[in-house]
Amino acid sequence: MDLLKSKATRRHNTINHQCFVKCVAAVLAGICIGYWILTRFEITLWKPVYPLNILLVGDWGRDGSHNQSLVATQMGKVGEKLAIDFVISTGDNFYDTGLSGIGDPQFATSFTNIYTAPSLQKRWYAVLGNHDYMGNVLAQLDAALVLRDHRWFCRRQYQLKRYLCQPPLSGLCNYAVDFFFIDTTPFINEYSLPGIHEMFDWRGLAPRDIQLQHQMKALDQALEQSTATWKIVVGHHTIRSFGHHGDSKDLISKVLPILEAHGVNAYINGHDHCLQHIKSNDSKVHFLTSGGGSKAWQGIQKAKKSELHFAYDGQGFLAMSLNERSLNFDFYDAFGNNLHSIHIGK
Ligand SMILES: [Zn+2]
Repeated sequence: MDLLKSKATRRHNTINHQCFVKCVAAVLAGICIGYWILTRFEITLWKPVYPLNILLVGDWGRDGSHNQSLVATQMGKVGEKLAIDFVISTGDNFYDTGLSGIGDPQFATSFTNIYTAPSLQKRWYAVLGNHDYMGNVLAQLDAALVLRDHRWFCRRQYQLKRYLCQPPLSGLCNYAVDFFFIDTTPFINEYSLPGIHEMFDWRGLAPRDIQLQHQMKALDQALEQSTATWKIVVGHHTIRSFGHHGDSKDLISKVLPILEAHGVNAYINGHDHCLQHIKSNDSKVHFLTSGGGSKAWQGIQKAKKSELHFAYDGQGFLAMSLNERSLNFDFYDAFGNNLHSIHIGK
């Protein structure tokens, strides 16, 4: 019996050994062939809690220099994290003198070849700045640029509605944000002075007085008709600023009363090459400067603490996330640091 048991045990061990060898060989073969290991991937995409997320940047087009490329890289990262819907440019899109024509290589070297991150391959809604008016202003407004880069959308003044429900379908959603884009360069009186007036390309515009009256009336009517939850106005020049250029008296007298009369939540601009948040007790409008797309470091003037809530005179950009109850802004520097957050609630 013991002999039989011993033979059986040896046979059993031999079978186990053969199985083990076969298994190891199979595993090694499997690893080598690579078809039976289920590689684990984790889904890291973050679903935004806000139905609309955008980035805003201004004063940028310098062929990547003055940290434009660095800002663009961080915009790409924040844009991916927020899964942004589009980008807004607050003007001075191409330095120093706008585009020379629709074939100007700078459109590629300062825009297409710089903002290459996948998250930034969305529509760019742009306004014109004073430097854009110093080149061929009609080129930036030309539909031919869309053929060179499908993202480009630039007009003198326009409005944009976005519903704030998921999915953002009109008719099924009671909440929306209205953006009003205005052309501020013609408002600046200094640019109409002899000797300076000739530096700008005013083609396509009515005489200044008439043009400004039309633009103010159009903005007033559009805001009057807006039933949106949030109203945001975007222009190139500052209304309120403690940056290099400071306040714009021309816009304070002509545009600010319209914004205040219609309960505009925020006016967002470039022109001063910095990031700022100004909110005074005597106005409901938040003034945000996002003009840090490239050349910066021009200094910040002294200001009342009760008005100037944040100022940074280096490069950076602004992110905006909103739903029907809250409007949120985050300023980022060229290294992706979140410098300042604003929460406006309903
Ligand atoms: Zn400017």
